[in-house]
Amino acid sequence: MSDEPTEDELNRLLRAVAPSRELSAHESRQLREVLTKVVPAVRAVMRKQAAAIEEAARDGKLWEFLEQLRGKCAKCDQPPVLHITEVNSGTGEATNIHLCEEHAREYRDDRPSGTSRP
Ligand SMILES: [Zn+2]
Repeated sequence: MSDEPTEDELNRLLRAVAPSRELSAHESRQLREVLTKVVPAVRAVMRKQAAAIEEAARDGKLWEFLEQLRGKCAKCDQPPVLHITEVNSGTGEATNIHLCEEHAREYRDDRPSGTSRP
């Protein structure tokens, strides 16, 4: 089974990126390239998590697993409110990051959107 997005999915994602205007051929080509790498990476992470949940349930450790999954902020001991999957657009590698409210705010302030600057 291939994790690569279908042509339909790609077109839908591209429309979602810029709903109010047409993307240039160049933008469209670049975004397609990134999405073709990112979508399979995210799907692989989701499959891995689903498998880990099933395994924990089989071992009678589902509760511990869910507690661990809920985890704590990557930067402090507060409970996380924001869960981010960061994908390296070069390697297609995905990392999960959990942040508390305060550090989530910091994270957003640190990373101004690169694609929609005025
Ligand atoms: Zn924190």
